[in-house]
Amino acid sequence: MWTCKNLWKKLAPLARSSSTLCRQNARGVLLNNERRLPLVPQAHMSSGTPGSGGDNNLYYLLVGATCVGGGFYAYRTIKGDKERYQERINEIASRPNKVPIAAESEESSEPIAAESEESSEPIAAESEESSEPIVPASTPVEFPSHAPYLLIGGGTASFAAARSIRARDPGARVLIITDEPDLPYMRPPLSKELWFSDDPSVVDTLRFKQWNGKERSIYFQPPSFYVSPQDLEKVENGGVAVLTGKKVVHMDVRGNKVTLSDDTEISYDKCLIATGGIPRNLQVIERAGEEVTKRTTLFRKVEDFKALDKVSRDTKSITIIGGGFLGSELACALGRRSADSDLEVIQMFPEKGNMGKVLPEYLSNWTTAKVKSEGVAVITEALVKAVSFKDGKVEIKLKDGRVVKTDHIVAAVGLEPSVELAKSAGLEVDSDFGGFRVNAELQARSNIWVAGDAACFYDIRLGRRRVEHHDHAVVSGRLAGENMTGANKPYWHQSMFWSDLGPDVGYEAIGIVDSSLPTVGVFAKATAKDTPKAATEKSGTGIRSESETEGTASSPVASSTPEPPPVPEQKDNYGKGVIFYLRDKVVVGIILWNVFNRMPVARKIIKDGEEHADLNEVAKLFNIHDD
Ligand SMILES: Cc1cc2nc3c(=O)[nH]c(=O)nc-3n(C[C@H](O)[C@H](O)[C@H](O)COP(=O)(O)OP(=O)(O)OC[C@H]3O[C@@H](n4cnc5c(N)ncnc54)[C@H](O)[C@@H]3O)c2cc1C
Repeated sequence: MWTCKNLWKKLAPLARSSSTLCRQNARGVLLNNERRLPLVPQAHMSSGTPGSGGDNNLYYLLVGATCVGGGFYAYRTIKGDKERYQERINEIASRPNKVPIAAESEESSEPIAAESEESSEPIAAESEESSEPIVPASTPVEFPSHAPYLLIGGGTASFAAARSIRARDPGARVLIITDEPDLPYMRPPLSKELWFSDDPSVVDTLRFKQWNGKERSIYFQPPSFYVSPQDLEKVENGGVAVLTGKKVVHMDVRGNKVTLSDDTEISYDKCLIATGGIPRNLQVIERAGEEVTKRTTLFRKVEDFKALDKVSRDTKSITIIGGGFLGSELACALGRRSADSDLEVIQMFPEKGNMGKVLPEYLSNWTTAKVKSEGVAVITEALVKAVSFKDGKVEIKLKDGRVVKTDHIVAAVGLEPSVELAKSAGLEVDSDFGGFRVNAELQARSNIWVAGDAACFYDIRLGRRRVEHHDHAVVSGRLAGENMTGANKPYWHQSMFWSDLGPDVGYEAIGIVDSSLPTVGVFAKATAKDTPKAATEKSGTGIRSESETEGTASSPVASSTPEPPPVPEQKDNYGKGVIFYLRDKVVVGIILWNVFNRMPVARKIIKDGEEHADLNEVAKLFNIHDD
């Protein structure tokens, strides 16, 4: 296809010049017949007397010879070009850095047609060595050597930053570098909706039905949204390019440049670090040897979803270690799958109940019952002592002597923020929370900002924090992007997070939600409307933070009389409710349990930071009794 296109491009100028030559000669003949010879250089036309028929024959001979000569020249040129083209392609194929081509083919798994067009571009530019100037004169580059905005990491925070940079600076050239093979995508569906899809090809399409039934892709944008890295420097209105499968290994903050794992250097004007984190593992698993390691999934990326999906079809028993939101969501997802197969799903964790570090005990117990009802064998207060591989099974020994035999482990035991670049960049890592320490404007040094899971930021209301949630990644990424374009805005937004145990039970949370704090819970009977599914149907969105609006909250009941918090109202069935987390009698965190789209109210309460005499009154602001 390219050959034909290029052949035509090669032939077109020749065809044009040869037809011009023929027209000129024909005109010359006409002129000659009209006795206007003085206009025509004599030496080119005839050495004899003008007007004779013999002269004209001579001219026809000359014209004929010229055309034959031209044709021969064209043939030689094209043949030579073809050889040069082949040599060039061979030379390119033998180069070590073939990233753009490789990256494009990775991306082509995304079922969006624009992809194949992009992938033809690098090859089309190769014939620039030929004699005919039919391609851009500049030397093709596989990496831009400079990016005005360089974003390290291709996750949620980076993508949000790219979007806000472009919104404030429409001609901006933004380069995202990610060590993943994928374009930026959202992670929450990897442990939720994707598992509940009835499409057998979901692992390939990565499209899923939101709880509200609408279909969407996990990718923030299709490939056609992005410009290719090679074109970033030259596209007229700038754009966002993604360099996939490349790791930034070094930062020279004085020289304003980064080095990739293949030694390529790229300079920048402004840089964002949004490197997220990598899942933690248990030391006992790391020490257990290769047989255990290859039967263990640390769940974070698209590849992990694909791998675990396969494991869930090929093995008989999966054990999830970890009782947090990720472990509990995966347990519910796999449990649901086990209903139609003979898969055994076990979940174990040290706490007394699921999400025990976040939820008050009574609610954590309720959640455990819910997870069990999904077909999961939940083992509470389980501390893993040793893991080994025996007789074709992974054996997990607990501290209290219990032994669990399984085929595969999913370790969902937390996240380690990716801060490897701190050393070369001379950036400070927070010793308590981990992550790069940044100021209220998310800036670590001049020209360097940090956002998302990797940022340890100063929260004006709640002090220094690091947050590992989607909404925080969106909001901090957006703010960092704005500040990279000169906004100088402080980060004050209280981000929220949510967790769904399947389509029927979910919660949204804001602020510090730590079960070691005193809590006050106010509950009401839930109706069919109080589920994640119903909430997304109502709002029309699937990713909760997208449904959020700021500043729509009315003023909460103001009370400054310090009083001891009421005892949590306990019920057998916690249909829906509000849980307040208190520090020094002030509400520092709120969970909305099966109560959706009321986050602005919660945000306002946290922001105001006042003491409330009667939290039952405050709970009324969420209208939990009205629906
Ligand atoms: C399965 C799952 C479900 C989740 N569900 C929820 C949920 O329901 N609600 C919620 O609020 N949050 C949820 N989260 C958390 C949320 O997804 C994260 O907080 C969010 O993805 C953080 O975004 P980020 O951009 O900071 O980091 P990431 O999304 O981790 O992106 C960082 C990227 O940078 C890349 N990178 C790292 N170092 C380098 C380097 N040196 N060079 C190049 N690239 C590099 C990484 O490979 C990665 O692609 C979930 C997370 C997971 C894994």
